[in-house]
Amino acid sequence: MRVAMIGTGYVGLVSGVCFADFGHDVTCIDKDVEKIEKLRAGEMPIYEPTLEDLVKDNVAEGRLTFATDGADAIRSADAIFIAVGTPSRRGDGHADLSYVFAAAEEIADLMDGYTVVVTKSTVPVGTGDEGKRRTRKRRPDAEFAVVSNPEFLREGAAIADFKRPDRIVVGGAHDPRARKCMEELYRPLYLNETPILFTERRTSELIKYAANAFLALKITYINEMADLCEKVGADVQQVARGIGLDNRIGAKFLNAGPGYGGSCFPKDTLALVRTAQEAGAPVQLVETTVAVNDARKAAMADRIVAIAGGAVKGKTIALLGLTFKPNTDDMRDAPALDIVKALQKAGAKIKAFDPEGMGEAEKVLSDVEMCKGPYECVKDADVVAIVTEWDQFRALDLKRVKAAVKTPLVVDLRNVYRPDEMRERGFTYVSIGRP
Ligand code: NAD
Repeated sequence: MRVAMIGTGYVGLVSGVCFADFGHDVTCIDKDVEKIEKLRAGEMPIYEPTLEDLVKDNVAEGRLTFATDGADAIRSADAIFIAVGTPSRRGDGHADLSYVFAAAEEIADLMDGYTVVVTKSTVPVGTGDEGKRRTRKRRPDAEFAVVSNPEFLREGAAIADFKRPDRIVVGGAHDPRARKCMEELYRPLYLNETPILFTERRTSELIKYAANAFLALKITYINEMADLCEKVGADVQQVARGIGLDNRIGAKFLNAGPGYGGSCFPKDTLALVRTAQEAGAPVQLVETTVAVNDARKAAMADRIVAIAGGAVKGKTIALLGLTFKPNTDDMRDAPALDIVKALQKAGAKIKAFDPEGMGEAEKVLSDVEMCKGPYECVKDADVVAIVTEWDQFRALDLKRVKAAVKTPLVVDLRNVYRPDEMRERGFTYVSIGRP
């Protein structure tokens, strides 16, 4: 099948290359000229494990191409995906749908013959209806279907998630031609018996928000348990294991930490809150989750200030990890941003090292000394803070760390190390939710 992917970001690029790997003929389109030029030169604009090889293979096989002007690809496509960003609209927290509708209008002007327009971007309930209305108005003659197919991949494991998803959700594919098109696109997964859930379009749109909000809530719940553990002398990791072994709860998303961040949970929880308020059915649990998480991210810097003796003015804080989670370079809404800004405001000097995120971090942070490796980063530090649990921070040479720092104070926001081990090695060590 011929596929046009509008938007070649984390989702568009990963979905595009995976569809190509399934055997489809894919054009990934983006307005960002630099991004497309990089991809054409074989350079990846984002970091995602195994992405580069998969892109190279599929380009070499002639199944994957990149374009800034997608007119030809859109005209000839059987399915056109919209995978553009839907960031929080400034001021009110609603999803900003301007990129989605701009892409829909481009498609409307160009599509030729029966076309399935598939929204992969995360969009509020009713966006597909509105897109369909606008398209019909622009092209009363056209034959098309508007389908919702939300994406559930996780950055850092995106290729594996796309190729082995827990489920695929398709909304609004009532026309047998649209349904057949979607089945054909995901055929390799169909054969693997991946559940494909066909629903109404509005239901599909809501499933994505309901899933993300639930996961955000789960993280926030264990974070609150961690705070309680600290007060009552319990261990949150054992609490998480003790509850997670219950199948009804499940072990995933029970790692206490500095609060959720990233490009999805913060904006999607906010957008769901707004949708629900406007629909007259407020989701109070999600509203509370948003507030608790915001407060948590803001409070993380306080832990670092506290271990430093109550003030960090003129002190050097070394941050190991900046991205919102390991195996990505994505800095959007990362807890590190709040931490750095709060510490700088308190007068600290910040050094940082992140295996993949420093390029992105430099675009959004200023006055941070970016280091070449973890040992250069901790050199002469008054406090070391582990902010992201990259594998390479799990097995640091602690002797070398101790010799390099000015004072052996460690704040571990990801519970990478064992408190007894750190104390034995002479560190004053604070982690999350552990005695
Ligand atoms: P992104 O910002 O990485 O990429 C979006 C891309 O779309 C950008 O490169 C931008 O230049 C391009 N674009 C915008 N308008 C365009 C147009 N008219 N024509 C061509 N290109 C255009 O965003 P992302 O992280 O890939 O997210 C995309 C959508 O997928 C969002 O709705 C997001 O919520 C959702 N989503 C993201 C993830 C994730 O982990 N990042 C996971 C699931 C769902």
